[in-house]
Amino acid sequence: MKRKAPWAKGHERQDNPNLAGYAVRVSAGRRYPETPHPYRNDYERDRDRIIHSRAFRRLENKTQVFTRRYSDHFRNRLTHTLEVTQISRTVGQALRLNTGLVEALALVHDVGHPPFGHTGEAALGRLMERYGERFDHNLHALRIVEDFEQKYAEYPGLNLTFEVREGIIKHSRDYDPEPYPELAEYRLREKPPLEAQLIDPADEIAYDCADLDDGYEAKLLTVPLIREGVPLFDRFYRAVERKYSAAPEKLKFNEALKRLLDALVTDLIESTEQRLRKAGVRSVGDVRGYFSRLVALGPRVGRESRRLKAFLHQNLYSNENINAERRQIARYVDELFEFFVKRPRRLPPSYFAKTTREPVHRVVCDYIAGMTDNYVQEQHGRFLRRTKKSNE
Ligand code: MG
Repeated sequence: MKRKAPWAKGHERQDNPNLAGYAVRVSAGRRYPETPHPYRNDYERDRDRIIHSRAFRRLENKTQVFTRRYSDHFRNRLTHTLEVTQISRTVGQALRLNTGLVEALALVHDVGHPPFGHTGEAALGRLMERYGERFDHNLHALRIVEDFEQKYAEYPGLNLTFEVREGIIKHSRDYDPEPYPELAEYRLREKPPLEAQLIDPADEIAYDCADLDDGYEAKLLTVPLIREGVPLFDRFYRAVERKYSAAPEKLKFNEALKRLLDALVTDLIESTEQRLRKAGVRSVGDVRGYFSRLVALGPRVGRESRRLKAFLHQNLYSNENINAERRQIARYVDELFEFFVKRPRRLPPSYFAKTTREPVHRVVCDYIAGMTDNYVQEQHGRFLRRTKKSNE
């Protein structure tokens, strides 16, 4: 009898019998067909292509909430992405979903974010509004993986599977199909599979907990302030104090935060399981056709999580030090945008070449959105200081 290799081949594992009925099994395919890989299934290949992309590597130099000015220990968009991936894997595994697809989607979920976090995104959004357009980081991410990444000889972009491309644009929002005829292939009237739905709540859990952690480290938040404003944290902190009364505050804080993270993830898994059972969801088709998303916290923990968010908005995101820095960053982005729109020849040749096919403001927006934080500062120093002098 022929012995089977101890590892199942990539395309065999794609249809893993341990997957739940509502997990994604077989891909609807790639834009440019490829032969299956012997050891990795389609989604595992996508995951690896994402990790090998330039856009993924650039996440290291993009701000999550705190810029490098505060500390080297804080999250940047790359370490945030890894935290989201860990949480997503745990949730995906517990729900018996396709973890290759989950991992690919978690790793790619922020590649469309411009430099300097939400400040950079808001600045580009305002600038594009002047032209009656908008900047959407999910749509930008799709353009990155479809077009801007020029890596392979066979095709433009990364040639990712349909489900990963669909998840990139739909993981955190629904679309009205009317204004988006160019996205028609992505089944806009349907909800995305559970593997994509879980990315957004996992993202929120990751950054809510991380922002508490970094905010405490930055001394913008204190333990008494957090205990007063976040009752769920306070409950865990009290339990930790009983157990480790002699421990330093920092370690008690860590223990409480760890319990908070665990409670949120556990509730996400258990509430979703319950919802799936109640809705009688059995297949990907059922998930796609259901009237609402199915992966979410339950009502009680959901309320606690909203309190945590409100606390972070009030005490951290609106902090005056962070805001002053934001205004400066927004000015850099504004000035660079105007500079390149007026002088498109100063764009790198590959971007300048695009201005024959697309409006200049769109090309400039794509160029700036791809920059790292450092590169914005470098480009601003290089072009705008010199221009000011030459105008004098
Ligand atoms: Mg994120």
